[in-house]
Amino acid sequence: MGMIELANLTESNAYDSIILDTAPTGHTMKFMQMPYLVKKWTCVLNLMMEKHRYLSKLYVKRYQPDDADAFIEAFIKGAKKIERMLQDKSCEFVPVMLPEILSMKETQRFLSVLKKYKVPAKTIIINRVYPVSDCYFCSTQYSRQAKHIDEIKSSLHGYNLLRMPLCNAEIQGKESLLKFAQAMVNSFHQDNNQGAQNGSLGEFPGDTRLSSLLLKQAGDFPEFPLHKNEPGGMKVFLNGMKRLPALKSSLEFLLFSGKGGVGKTTLACATALSWSNSYPEKRILLFSTDPAHSLSDCLDVVIGGDGLSLHNLSIQEMNAEEEYQNLKHLYSEEIRDFMAAFTKRDASVHIVFEKEILESLIEIAPPGIDEVMAITSIIDYMDKGSFDIFILDTAPTGHFIRFLEMPELTLDWLKFFFNLFLKYKNNVRMPKISAFLVDLSKKIKKLLTLLHDKEKSLFIPIAIPTEMAYEETKDLLEAVKRLKIPIEQGILNMVHPYPEKDVIGAECPICVNRIVYEEKMLCVFKKLFPVDSLCIIHKQEGEIVGIKALQSLGKKLYGDALN
Ligand SMILES: [Zn+2]
Repeated sequence: MGMIELANLTESNAYDSIILDTAPTGHTMKFMQMPYLVKKWTCVLNLMMEKHRYLSKLYVKRYQPDDADAFIEAFIKGAKKIERMLQDKSCEFVPVMLPEILSMKETQRFLSVLKKYKVPAKTIIINRVYPVSDCYFCSTQYSRQAKHIDEIKSSLHGYNLLRMPLCNAEIQGKESLLKFAQAMVNSFHQDNNQGAQNGSLGEFPGDTRLSSLLLKQAGDFPEFPLHKNEPGGMKVFLNGMKRLPALKSSLEFLLFSGKGGVGKTTLACATALSWSNSYPEKRILLFSTDPAHSLSDCLDVVIGGDGLSLHNLSIQEMNAEEEYQNLKHLYSEEIRDFMAAFTKRDASVHIVFEKEILESLIEIAPPGIDEVMAITSIIDYMDKGSFDIFILDTAPTGHFIRFLEMPELTLDWLKFFFNLFLKYKNNVRMPKISAFLVDLSKKIKKLLTLLHDKEKSLFIPIAIPTEMAYEETKDLLEAVKRLKIPIEQGILNMVHPYPEKDVIGAECPICVNRIVYEEKMLCVFKKLFPVDSLCIIHKQEGEIVGIKALQSLGKKLYGDALN
């Protein structure tokens, strides 16, 4: 339990401060709920022990606390520690956001979760703020961001808002990091002083200073234009944005996958809109299992529990939590039936404990089962024949991949259940839940078979040209390879536009450094994928939010008409 270790560290005073770097928002929200989950598990364990203690007292006339008691006690203490840690005044959660619409929506939601769990948050970092610039591309970004920063200032009034500039070099290594940290401190003081003086935040503090610092640090200003004489070099490749391959007529299942922030939801939405337009005869389902409701944000529409229909395109956000609640209901029913039959046969003194133990056992379902249920619900639609094409937007977690590797996991869990039951009574049967889990494991196998089928499905990993994204993509591809899922195509998204038609200032340090860095990254990324299968999509000038913007991105990606 990483959380308990963390709580132990804070209480042991081994360190004066502890800095934790957490995962993207959807998962961080789950992390916030950990103390509550731990409490639930503790309850289950406690109930099991309660029975043990009761029986001991009944038959042995005395009960001595043993190792199990010690374990449960430590577990409860741990959960309490975590809760204390998260709600302590010296603990602070610092959301980091971008001055972009999608990030703003996500941060708002995240802040409300923090409030709900009483986790303190005072400072918010607005990262990658463009400096004032002569460069057309950068100045466009600058003005758009400035507008959003104004909106953030009014909607997040009361928080310390720190603006960190976009740097023209990757911040790596001690030197750069120290400079970045110093700029953060300066920005903090500047913001706070100005705020005190005139009641408002200063304009883009620290950014130009930091840019120049980092540029010096990064070495000589690169020669421009880059590789101008290299035949068939990167320039040619980057200049013409390669269109994504047209849809195979046999394709049924398209899966966009990648970590948060790589733009996979945007690409999934643009693809769905483009295809629904090009193939009016096909019934298309676009769905996501992201707990952060990214489809609604991206399309800028409200998608209710029943989904949303736009002509031949249906859109659904699978709620993993709800799927899990369904399983819980089914389980409770089963327990009720089972206990009813049980009490008819013989009234037992242990009955109360058993009912409670059995009912709460569902709380120790294997992690990720909710995600599996949400994703495999696609198989239900396939069996019903409701749609011709399925587009899935997902960030598969390690849990999900483990389920794909071992569809039997759901059944193992069931076996574990039965073993527990057998300790109480011999003829335990739970027909509904058994059928449900057998069905779930069949669906996982079906999904895997579908993913193996090159004609019917396409798994597209999406990444951005950074080293961190490279490592993540490498891990994902390794897992996919173990699962024998073919990869025929990858997407490198948000690649910096290359200077053409005087759009980008040849002197712009931000653009030039970005392009140099990304060229290096591109070479490494290409090696991850089969030859010529990596598509490059440039960072778009404007934000792609809402159906219209997504439709026009779709046109850029796939062309006007497909055949
Ligand atoms: Zn620029």
